[in-house]
Amino acid sequence: MRFLIFENIILIMFLRVVPVGEIYEGILNLVKDELENLNIKCRIMPKIPIPKEAYNQWRKQYNAEVVMNMLSNVSEVKFIDKSIPTLLLTDFDLYYSGLNFIFGLEDPTKSCAIVSLARLKPEFYDERPARGLLEERIVKEVIHELGHYLGLDHCSNSKCVMSFSPSVFDVDKKQKEFCENCKLIMITKGINIG
Ligand SMILES: [Zn+2]
Ligand SMILES: [Zn+2]
Repeated sequence: MRFLIFENIILIMFLRVVPVGEIYEGILNLVKDELENLNIKCRIMPKIPIPKEAYNQWRKQYNAEVVMNMLSNVSEVKFIDKSIPTLLLTDFDLYYSGLNFIFGLEDPTKSCAIVSLARLKPEFYDERPARGLLEERIVKEVIHELGHYLGLDHCSNSKCVMSFSPSVFDVDKKQKEFCENCKLIMITKGINIG
C-alpha cells in the first residue's frame, strides 16, 4: 500500500483498476467514483485478457486463484510494484477452492483482489437486466474486497458491507457502507475511510 501518512491518519491510498476482458466503461467509472468517495485514488488500466489456463471446462468457470497467480506475471499489470494494490474486474464466472462460485476474492500476498460481475447480474437469475441494481451490487462487492484488503474480516451485522454474502440476496440486503464497528477497527489500524 502506498499511503501519505499525516499524524497516523491515512489520507490517500492508490489503487489500480484492471478490467479482465470486456467491462463497460460506465461501470469502470462508477467503481472509480465510488472508491474516490472513500479517498482512494483510482487509475483505470487498459483491459487484459483472462488467462485461458484458469478455465475449468467441466465447471465452465475460471479459477480465481489461478487468474490472480497468472496475472501477477503479466507485464501490463506490473504487480512487481506491490505498493499499489490492484483490483481486477471481470465478467467471467469465478470459483475458488471448495466453493461453487465466488463474487470476489482478495489475496493480500499479491496486493490483489478480483470481483466477478457474472453472478451479480439479474439476468443470471432469469430476471430482467437492471443496470442500477447491478451497479449497486458491484460497488458493494468491490468495497467488501477492499475491506478485506484493509484487514477486515466478515462482520455479523447483515447491513454492513463486510457481512458475508453467500447469495445475491445477501448482497442486496447489505449496504455499501462499513458499520460503526468495522470503521472503528479500521481507525485503530490508522485507516480513515468511509
Ligand atoms: Zn468476504
Ligand atoms: Zn461491520
